[in-house]
Amino acid sequence: MSEKLLLDYGSGGKASQRLISEMFLKYLGNEHLNRLDDAAFLEVTSPISMSTDTFTVDPLFFPGGDIGSLAVHGTVNDVTMLGARPRYITCGLILEEGLDMDVLERIVASMGEAAHHAGVDIVTGDTKVVPRGAVDKIFINTTGIGEIFVDPAPSGHSARPGDAILISGTMGDHGLTILSQREGLSFDAPVKSDSAALNHLIVKLLEEIPEIHVLRDPTRGGLATTLSEIALQSDVECFIREKDIPVRKEVAGGCSFLGLDPLYLANEGKFICILPEKYAAKALEIMHADSLGENACRIGEVKDEHQGKVIMQTPIGGHRLLDMLEGAQLPRIC
Ligand code: MG
Repeated sequence: MSEKLLLDYGSGGKASQRLISEMFLKYLGNEHLNRLDDAAFLEVTSPISMSTDTFTVDPLFFPGGDIGSLAVHGTVNDVTMLGARPRYITCGLILEEGLDMDVLERIVASMGEAAHHAGVDIVTGDTKVVPRGAVDKIFINTTGIGEIFVDPAPSGHSARPGDAILISGTMGDHGLTILSQREGLSFDAPVKSDSAALNHLIVKLLEEIPEIHVLRDPTRGGLATTLSEIALQSDVECFIREKDIPVRKEVAGGCSFLGLDPLYLANEGKFICILPEKYAAKALEIMHADSLGENACRIGEVKDEHQGKVIMQTPIGGHRLLDMLEGAQLPRIC
């Protein structure tokens, strides 16, 4: 193969075939993908959860991950939040002519590794190569399907007054990592994206506690925006305490330097769990036993006072209304 990607590789002809066999099947191959029919033949035995996302993160490689693993984790996580075991993923690649082949290979290999670790198969895909400048290096779309195994499925509409609000770990790691890479900033202690597949931990949690009301991953817009969405969907107040929200010291330091609020920064390996009070301690115990939930904690509770709002108690005892993020604070963060 040439060292640079040529337009021919997206033509559907011989060059495309070489790209498929020497790269995609090599790293992503499985019984479904290897058949190379026009579509994948899949069987499911339950209601399904389905989600799609497009990844344009800049830079392509960052501490803690890259656009390939992120594209798998993001879709696996969204599919899982509905109380599903993710099974299948699709992959659409839009590639810029001239892209280094070894960059593409690293990204595809990373997707394969992430899918393997999450236990999902990439079952169908598509590649387009566009002329220089028509796209910035590589954009990836992934769509996922999961089998829902709890009834009723968790939903942003299901928070109830009296529920406990838990988060699975520290806030803002991914957002601050991408931004500091882009700005060329370095801090005393290095920051790292939290990009990870949450499905194994969440399936464990739901098998023990099927009564969980809400699961959401606070990606773009961060914890504040996601809780605002839940407050509106469920018509309840989400009351949280700032002192209980875990933020790594280096992330807090970077945020204050850049004038950012970690509660509005994207996370790619964390989730919010809202559930009846009586299950809160057990849920935390299950989360603490997993490396992806070791910093899990309770940050507040659901109330019925200020419906549709997120109210945060500040460390000095005052109250602050947390609004949704206006516009794009950080473009191309995922
Ligand atoms: Mg989500």
